Amino acid sequence: MASPRAAKAPLAGSTAPAAGAGGVPPAQAAGMPVVSSESLLGLKRRARRINRALAEKYPYAHAELDFRNPFELLVATVLSAQTTDVTVNQVTPLLFARYPDPRAMAEADPAAIEEIIKATGFFRAKTRSLVALCTRLVDEYNGVVPGRLEDLVTLPGVGRKTANVVLGNAFGVPGITVDTHFGRLARRFGWTQSEDPVQIEYDVAELFEKRDWTMLSHRVVFHGRRVCHSRRPACGACPVANWCPSYGLGETDSAKAAKLLKYELAPGNEALLAQLQAETHRAAEIRMESQKRIQ
Ligand code: SF4
Repeated sequence: MASPRAAKAPLAGSTAPAAGAGGVPPAQAAGMPVVSSESLLGLKRRARRINRALAEKYPYAHAELDFRNPFELLVATVLSAQTTDVTVNQVTPLLFARYPDPRAMAEADPAAIEEIIKATGFFRAKTRSLVALCTRLVDEYNGVVPGRLEDLVTLPGVGRKTANVVLGNAFGVPGITVDTHFGRLARRFGWTQSEDPVQIEYDVAELFEKRDWTMLSHRVVFHGRRVCHSRRPACGACPVANWCPSYGLGETDSAKAAKLLKYELAPGNEALLAQLQAETHRAAEIRMESQKRIQ
């Protein structure tokens, strides 16, 4: 792992801010990156360096929702609003066993769907969305999920985030998926200043080759879930600390930071991490098996 730069050292080409209370520069204390005069070329280089470091750290990064076809991923992504992928993965096997395609789900008794997806929260609204979504798929797309962004975003309950998840992972069309983790990290990396998901998508798209968009999305979200948490980022155990203008926002002591890591990086999960690193092609399967063991 790269050794972190000093907490208050500015990045090359940036202007050092004055330290605030607790020795943390004011911008960092406010959660904002400190890079103020970086050229677009410098920003691109740094962004791509971060992507390479994340690729080395998470060679097993993948979509964490379980699916076998575009329909299942579309439904799982709709269900993932306001809940965890783990919870969604717990309910979808039964849901897809009962309703394997849009026609079956469009004709389902809503109360039966509600019962199955209850654990994901907002289950009444989600059921309404799923039935409306499947009805539209049957009526206008012959029961087949369309593979174009402009069609997907017209479906009930499907925004750009969901559409990009489906395009990137079920159709192989590059897409940047801006969820809460991606947005937070893009701001911490100084890739964007925006809070608006569509603007973030455009800002980040400028920094990377299109072919990298889908895997970049997975890696950034993986990093957000495991290391760069919303409240207590584990800066002292972060593989991109050298290139992150927000270094110092979280715990910088390496031993304390290591305790903040989650999932396969958490202390005690070395065997799972080793398995994921050794069998990257089976990462989704290994993750599912480990989740079943925890339940
Ligand atoms: S955990 Fe890493 S990516 Fe997040 S703020 Fe700290 S150094 Fe930056």
